Amino acid sequence: MDTMYDVIVVGAGPVGENVADRTTRGGLRTALVEGERVGGECSYWACMPSKALLRSGAALRAARAVGGAAQAVTGDLDVGAVLARRDRLTHGGDDTSQVEWVASAGIELIRGHGRLAGERIVQVTAGDGRAVTLTARHAVAVCPGSAALIPDIPGLSEAGPWTNRDATGVQDIPASLVILGGGVVAAEMATVFTDLGSAVTMVVRSRLLRGVEPFAADAVRASLTHRGVDIREGIAVAAARRIGGSVHVMLADGRTVTGDEVLCATGRLPRTTDLGVDAVGLVPGAWLDVDDTQRVRGSDWLYAVGDVNHRAALTHQGKYQARAAGDVIVARAFGRPVDDRPWGAHVATADHAAVPQAIFTDPEIAAVGLTEAQAREKGLPVRVLDHDLSWIAGAATWSDDYRGRARAVVDTDREVLVGATFVGPEVAELVHAATIAVVAEVPLERLWHAVPPYPTVSEVWLRWLEEYGRSADRSR
Ligand SMILES: Cc1cc2nc3c(=O)[nH]c(=O)nc-3n(C[C@H](O)[C@H](O)[C@H](O)COP(=O)(O)OP(=O)(O)OC[C@H]3O[C@@H](n4cnc5c(N)ncnc54)[C@H](O)[C@@H]3O)c2cc1C
Repeated sequence: MDTMYDVIVVGAGPVGENVADRTTRGGLRTALVEGERVGGECSYWACMPSKALLRSGAALRAARAVGGAAQAVTGDLDVGAVLARRDRLTHGGDDTSQVEWVASAGIELIRGHGRLAGERIVQVTAGDGRAVTLTARHAVAVCPGSAALIPDIPGLSEAGPWTNRDATGVQDIPASLVILGGGVVAAEMATVFTDLGSAVTMVVRSRLLRGVEPFAADAVRASLTHRGVDIREGIAVAAARRIGGSVHVMLADGRTVTGDEVLCATGRLPRTTDLGVDAVGLVPGAWLDVDDTQRVRGSDWLYAVGDVNHRAALTHQGKYQARAAGDVIVARAFGRPVDDRPWGAHVATADHAAVPQAIFTDPEIAAVGLTEAQAREKGLPVRVLDHDLSWIAGAATWSDDYRGRARAVVDTDREVLVGATFVGPEVAELVHAATIAVVAEVPLERLWHAVPPYPTVSEVWLRWLEEYGRSADRSR
């Protein structure tokens, strides 16, 4: 085996796969090292299974909200069928199809755990203990992702807490579940397990979904509460203990909540503890700090892409970084010019300005760019345009009880959108138009010519523009 490659990519999650694809397409011989399943956390224990589990409940609610269809829906979710659909979408944990894709893309897959062993050197240890040392001519890109953080709470580790892997891979639905955390994973899992019949309690140290516009978080809080979720906000966990078949979670206010299981959705840790980063002067267990080309600061050969660089822990953002990183590695390898200007070909500057996110709760939240508070913190001159989506004709035809709201955040100096948030049924599909407006910095005046079709919920764009007013009217 020739162990000299142009590029070595460690971690074959969505991000590593994309780095390797770009460098291979660019003419560089690339090794892709994977210690578990090709496809990574996203395919088997995160995005895909969680969205599969969420979709059945969302489809049922959507049908129940439309007269005519509602009468045809006479039963509840078939839990076994929901889990079977999840298993189909995750291929039952079998990565054969992704391995076939890797081969068809001309990438060389090496199974085993990769560790940096010096400059441009990666040692790979296979499951049977055999080790091989690989060398990269040009670059090593580490894309190991992140793992669930188990908070340092007395008794919690001993209580056998669930992580995202247990929750998304669930086979036996617990009668009751305590969820620690109030972020996206926590809110989505509260939705899933309520749909599947568990009694859910959420313990949130600060407040639910605190990263999004408060009106959007309020809508999800109200819906979860309406569906019976017991949400305790602004409270820390003091200790946990498993007694018999249930976990007792002691809160800082002296009260106790119990569940058959406790799920930790309290954040992520970088998978750099056993990556050999100390061999190249970096700190094991720390996030890796990169520039906009995804190259580790201070290095001319090491790249860190995806969750591990802690810029925007989302699959689509990681894949965006991967395209930039793969292309810049190729450009640097062949001595071609590197376009590292803002929004250039070899940078991931959207990480700072226009990260879109869809949260598949009930109702959904979709957002891009800055919230009102973030825009004001940045000192931007801000005007906020709020609209009740239920007033739009498209909402009335979509369902008999459409509730939703949308906010645009406008930089009034430049008269461009810097952020947008939607909350309501299936709003995830609305956000990309806002992403284009934010990234392209489309003047609001020009948006008058982007006419939303009638009757769709996208007519909110027209309502925003009407509220803002035309520049011709303002100058009179
Ligand atoms: C429950 C949940 C739901 C989510 N839902 C969404 C969603 O809907 N949309 C979205 O955009 N994001 C979502 N995310 C985030 C998303 O999963 C991550 O941002 C994404 O998986 C990051 O991709 P990655 O390639 O950086 O890492 P990963 O997907 O974690 O892949 C890393 C790969 O590297 C391998 N690896 C690690 N260390 C080594 C090593 N030393 N040697 C060899 N291989 C190694 C791992 O085995 C793994 O296969 C969700 C996360 C969670 C937890």
